[in-house]
Amino acid sequence: MILDLLAIAAHPDDVELTCGGTLLKSAKLGYKTGILDLTAGEMGTRGTPEIRAKESALAAKLLKVSWRGTLGVPDSDVQPSRQHKLALARVIRQLRPRTVILPYWEARHPDHYHASTLGYEGCFLAGLKQLPLEGEPFRPFKILYCTSFEGMPPTFIVDITEQYDARRRAILAYRSQFRPAKSERKQRVFLAIDELDARMDLVARHAGSLIGVKYGEPFLQKELLQIDDVVQLPVRSI
Ligand SMILES: [Zn+2]
Repeated sequence: MILDLLAIAAHPDDVELTCGGTLLKSAKLGYKTGILDLTAGEMGTRGTPEIRAKESALAAKLLKVSWRGTLGVPDSDVQPSRQHKLALARVIRQLRPRTVILPYWEARHPDHYHASTLGYEGCFLAGLKQLPLEGEPFRPFKILYCTSFEGMPPTFIVDITEQYDARRRAILAYRSQFRPAKSERKQRVFLAIDELDARMDLVARHAGSLIGVKYGEPFLQKELLQIDDVVQLPVRSI
C-alpha cells in the first residue's frame, strides 16, 4: 500500500488528539492516509493492550485511514535507537508517504519528544541507498509537526470544523480511558484522556479562532510556506 499522508506518534490516541481532524479531512479529499503508533500503549494506567488495540482500530475506521500499524517499540521507552530507526525506515519504504506528521520535538513526555526524533531520523534513513535494508530507498517529501500538545506558535492551521465531531468520536473510541473499570476508577492519572479531551477541545477552538473558523488543528513546518496565488489566500484580514 502506498500512502499520501502518514501520522506517526508514540501512543495510540496521540494522533486522534493532535491531528485526527486533518487525517479525516485529507481522506475526504481523496488521499490515502495512515497512522503508525510506535508503541501499543501498554504502560497506560487504564485498559489492557488488547482493549486498546480494538479501540485504536475503531478510531482508525472513524478517521477513514487506509492503514494503521504498531511499530512495537516498548511504551515509556521510546528511543531513537538504531534498531527502532531501521524498523521505522522499513515501514516508510513500504508505505512511501509523501507527507509525514510527527509530534513536536519538545514535550513533557519523553516518549513524545523521542518519537519526534525517531520519526525524523527513520524517515531520513529510509532514503539512504546503501542502507542494508529491504525495500526501495524512499524519503518523504514533507514533514509536519503537531503543536497541539505543546502550545508552540504554529506556522499554519487546518480548518477541521467539519471534521470535529468525527474526530471527537474517534477520541471517545478509547472507551477504556474514559470509562475505566471499577477497580481502576480510584487511580489518579496525570492528564487522563477525559481531561485531555477537554483540553484538546480548547486547543482546537483556539486554533480555529486564529483563522476565523470554529475548530482548527495547529502545525509547524521548519520550512517557509510557498504561496503561488496571493489573490486567493484564505483568512480575512479586515
Ligand atoms: Zn502520548
